[in-house]
Amino acid sequence: MIEVKKLIKNFENLEVLKNIDAKVKDGEVVCVIGPSGSGKSTFLRCLNLLEEPTGGEIYIDGEQINKDGVNLNAIRQKLGMVFQNFNLFPHMTTLENITLAPVNVMGMNKKDAEKIAFELLERVGLADKAQVYPSSLSGGQKQRVAIARALAMNPEVMLFDEPTSALDPEMVGEVLEVMRGLADKGMTMVIVTHEMGFAREVADRILFMDDGVVVEQGTPEHIFNHPESQRTKEFLSKVL
Ligand code: ADP
Ligand code: MG
Repeated sequence: MIEVKKLIKNFENLEVLKNIDAKVKDGEVVCVIGPSGSGKSTFLRCLNLLEEPTGGEIYIDGEQINKDGVNLNAIRQKLGMVFQNFNLFPHMTTLENITLAPVNVMGMNKKDAEKIAFELLERVGLADKAQVYPSSLSGGQKQRVAIARALAMNPEVMLFDEPTSALDPEMVGEVLEVMRGLADKGMTMVIVTHEMGFAREVADRILFMDDGVVVEQGTPEHIFNHPESQRTKEFLSKVL
C-alpha cells in the first residue's frame, strides 16, 4: 500500500531523513519508535506530503505521489493524519470539525456527512459531544474527535504522530483503545509512538529510527526481545 524508496529530506543544510526505505502492506500496523529528533515526524509528514521530500520516491497503491502534477487533496484523502496536539478547529463544534472536509473537500452533502459523523462519534464513544466546542472537551476526548475527523474522509491509511504524548496519563488508555479498535478492523496504520506496551501488543512491525535512518525493523518480538543493533538496545534500555 505504501512504498518508500531512498527517501531524503533536508531542511536547509540539515539532513533529517537519509535514504529511508520502507513498506507498509494493506492492513498492516507499523509502529515507528526512536529518540526525539530522529526524524519520525518528518517521515510521517513526508508520507502525506505535509513536507516535500528532497529526494527519493513515495508510492501509494503503486502510484508515485511526490512528483509534479499530483492532486494533493486526493493524496491527503487517502492518508488520514492525527497529530500530537489534536489540531481541532477551536471555533467549530465537534460535528463541524468532522464534517468540514467531507463537505468542502470531497463535496459530500451536509446531511450525509453528518450521518457519517454521528456514526464515527458513536465509534469513538462521543455520541453525546456532537454539539460542543473543543474547549469543553478533555484531551482524550479531543484526540478521539481528531481520529473521527480523520476517519470521516474514509482514508486508506491512518497516520498517527505521537497521538497520546500530549495527554494526561489517565487519558492515554481511551485513545489507545480507539486505535486498537481500528487495528482490529484491519485499518492500515503507521503510528509514531512512545507507548512501548501498545506497540508491542498492536504492531505487526516496528521500525526503529535513529538519526534519520531506519536502524532496524522487525516484529515486536524481534525488536523488543532480540534487537540486533547496539543503538536499538541502548534506546530500549532507556524507555522500557
Ligand atoms: P522526531 O519526530 O523523531 O522527534 P522530527 O522529524 O520532528 O523528529 O525532527 C527531526 C529533525 O528535523 C530535528 O533536528 C528537527 O529540529 C528538524 N526539523 C523538523 N522540522 C523542521 C523544519 N520545519 N525546519 C527545520 N528543521 C526541522
Ligand atoms: Mg516527532
